[in-house]
Amino acid sequence: RRDATLSMDRVTELAGALRGTVLTPGTPDYDAVRRIWNAMIDRRPGLIVRCAGAADVMQAVRFARDNGLLVSVRGGGHNIAGNSLCDGGMLIDLSMVRFVHVDPAGRTARVGPGALLSDLDREAQAFGLAVPLGINSTTGIAGLTLGGGFGWLTRKYGLTVDNLLSVDIVNADGRFLRASEDENADLFWGVRGGGGNFGVVTAFTFRLHPVGPQVLAGLIVHPFDGAGDLLRRFRDLAARAPDDLTCWAVLRLAPPLPFLPAEHHGKPVVVLPVFYAGAVEEGWRAVEPIRALGQPLGEHLGPMPYVAWQAAFDPLLTPGARNYWKTHNFTGLADGLIDRLVDRARTLPSDQCEVFVGHLGGAANRVPADAMAYPHRDAEFVMNVHARWNDAGDDDTCIAWARAVFEDATPFATGGAYVNFLTDDEQRTRAAYGPNFDRLAALKRTYDPTNLFCVNHNIAPAA
Ligand code: FAD
Repeated sequence: RRDATLSMDRVTELAGALRGTVLTPGTPDYDAVRRIWNAMIDRRPGLIVRCAGAADVMQAVRFARDNGLLVSVRGGGHNIAGNSLCDGGMLIDLSMVRFVHVDPAGRTARVGPGALLSDLDREAQAFGLAVPLGINSTTGIAGLTLGGGFGWLTRKYGLTVDNLLSVDIVNADGRFLRASEDENADLFWGVRGGGGNFGVVTAFTFRLHPVGPQVLAGLIVHPFDGAGDLLRRFRDLAARAPDDLTCWAVLRLAPPLPFLPAEHHGKPVVVLPVFYAGAVEEGWRAVEPIRALGQPLGEHLGPMPYVAWQAAFDPLLTPGARNYWKTHNFTGLADGLIDRLVDRARTLPSDQCEVFVGHLGGAANRVPADAMAYPHRDAEFVMNVHARWNDAGDDDTCIAWARAVFEDATPFATGGAYVNFLTDDEQRTRAAYGPNFDRLAALKRTYDPTNLFCVNHNIAPAA
């Protein structure tokens, strides 16, 4: 596809047809709008269409198609691969479309494609409701949902996509479609995991569940000595955990948490974030075995508002740092895997790098693998090696470390990979869709035969 070498007349014509605005290199806000979460990615779109609603999206898609432009689509801008940004071409920016309308009686929410997790959590919690979302409140609903979406409520209520009821979507020829189980069901199957491959979603409708508003959650921090044994006990406990209980494990250097004695700050530790989705009193009983896993250095656990827990990790995940991730799914945590992860965590290359092991299972794994595009219903655990640092001079060391952890863990992995955790140098799009890949390629041929939506973990249209 061509770069956006358009006459200003054409750009002015487009701008006149929009409720939103058009930015080009040099206009105020251009640099602020093209900035995304991962500072490793710096791309300069030829034009940015700041959409105000679905009508603008239809205009933008038709304009891009008619002028042969490369297209990227931005929701919350958190994608680690930087797939919301293109060099040259057109960026369709949805970040202004942040509406969230909750129907408390029907327990549904209709959500705009620029909404962040915090927007939906806040609106839904006003009625004691929530949908499973991720762990960093500034992530975009759009990208998270289109790739799958998991977090603290997933073991109880499934993935974000398991709770998606319908989408409004503008496809590659600029047509507006509704997709649900009853309408364009094939497209609905594809968008639940297939990312932005099939069009631009202009609204999501979710099923909500009663949650909180107070939940039991917090952190238990253990010394790194004995990490292997601790992780084995964590694994055995995870196998018996009720769906309400979620405990993850993170190997990293201790942040300066106020409840940790200062001499442990900056030293390797094992952090166990714990969350209970049900009533707080039941939660205290359920977390007891986790509290008894060993002799922690410190613990900060108690009732808190669900929205506070959803934002608890935000200070560690601010935008603007350099980030490189490697991910694997596991059906279990074999002893050999645990030993290798612990070994690699002895050589963390920065105080922001970590090996994170999230516990899935529960409701997420009671859905058939072919029920929708997202296929990883065998994943009991997902590992994400988060390499994160500030100085470009540390790129090689931090990236090499992440790759080494990944290579060490490969023999124990399922071979599948969560698409939302794939960096831009990954070749694992097929693995991200496993047995569902061919059906997705056929669907792509139907809805986007010219591959207009190609700035993503791309599924090429079937021949
Ligand atoms: P964007 O970069 O804006 O978009 C991501 C992709 O979706 C791009 O390809 C984009 O083109 C496409 N897209 C965006 N909007 C639309 C749309 N409306 N229509 C069609 N295509 C669109 N994931 C989890 O599941 N659980 C977690 O707990 C979790 N934690 C995270 C924490 C951090 C700090 C970060 C950076 C990411 C985390 N993620 C998590 C991964 C996250 O789900 C992905 O990064 C996701 O792509 C972010 O969506 P976004 O809208 O912010 O990103």
